[in-house]
Amino acid sequence: MLCKICKSKGRRNKAVIYLRHHRLALCKEHFIEWFERQTEKAIKEFKMFRREEKVLVAVSGGKDSLSLWFALHRLGYETYGFHISLGIEGWNYSQKSLEVCRRFSERIGRPLLVFNLKEEFGYSIEEIAEGSGRKDVCSVCGTFKRYLMNKIAREKDFRVVATGHNLDDESALLLSNVMRWELGYLGRQYPVLPEEGGFARKVKPFCFLTEKETVSYAILNGIEFMETGCPNAKEATSKTYKQALAFLEHEMPGTKLRFYKEFLRKARPLFEKELKKELELNECEICGMPTTAPVCSVCRTLQRLREC
Ligand code: SF4
Ligand code: ZN
Ligand code: ZN
Repeated sequence: MLCKICKSKGRRNKAVIYLRHHRLALCKEHFIEWFERQTEKAIKEFKMFRREEKVLVAVSGGKDSLSLWFALHRLGYETYGFHISLGIEGWNYSQKSLEVCRRFSERIGRPLLVFNLKEEFGYSIEEIAEGSGRKDVCSVCGTFKRYLMNKIAREKDFRVVATGHNLDDESALLLSNVMRWELGYLGRQYPVLPEEGGFARKVKPFCFLTEKETVSYAILNGIEFMETGCPNAKEATSKTYKQALAFLEHEMPGTKLRFYKEFLRKARPLFEKELKKELELNECEICGMPTTAPVCSVCRTLQRLREC
């Protein structure tokens, strides 16, 4: 298959990727160009951040977050990486992830901020989950990651935090929220969550790009990333929703993009009202971070662990 853009310019370059739902075959150069243009388009469409704002990019060491850091850096934004070292020993995951992030930060010559959970709190994420009697490590991990992103953004004076969530993540999250009719979550699901009540603005510039596209972008740019993923990922229920959507996508190309885009356009404004009802924030009595309870859930969890 030939690159469509090269062909239109009278050149016969072979395509390295075929984007089925866009019916687009592209060579390396034009795929990278297309990918970065899509990223910039999402940033502008949802007014995620302005050129003069510094952006904190949450990086795990995986393909999505490192591709995001790379794309934003190439697009000329002032980026800083932020990595949370979770203390996961299985497969040497946390240590390897940190090394990958460090090497990447050196490659692009941008600073990497690191928060080491075990050093700062005294426990790994698995110990925290176990000690608080929660079987689902991922949901505890999600709470701690969100908390730390907000805390570091606040302390280091960042108004924007960017994450590498892609279309596969967003459509799977949407499906899971719809399945349980989580009205508050449906109201909150958006490519940009505004800066509010002490929380930094959260943005997802890859929300319309698929996992296949982010991994291709990483590989074509020679980005070294963690291929194994976290050993706890097998427990994540989002996998089942992703598989269901992959089946639908295979049968009906474009389903994922349509599902998510039409939700943003038609349904999400209806659920937004729920969001306003739910969020009444005050400061946590211990750490001062915004919370709906007198003490935030992270401080409560840590308190309980220390009392054991
Ligand atoms: Fe955290 Fe679960 Fe992701 Fe591992 S798979 S990093 S435990 S959310
Ligand atoms: Zn081309
Ligand atoms: Zn707190």
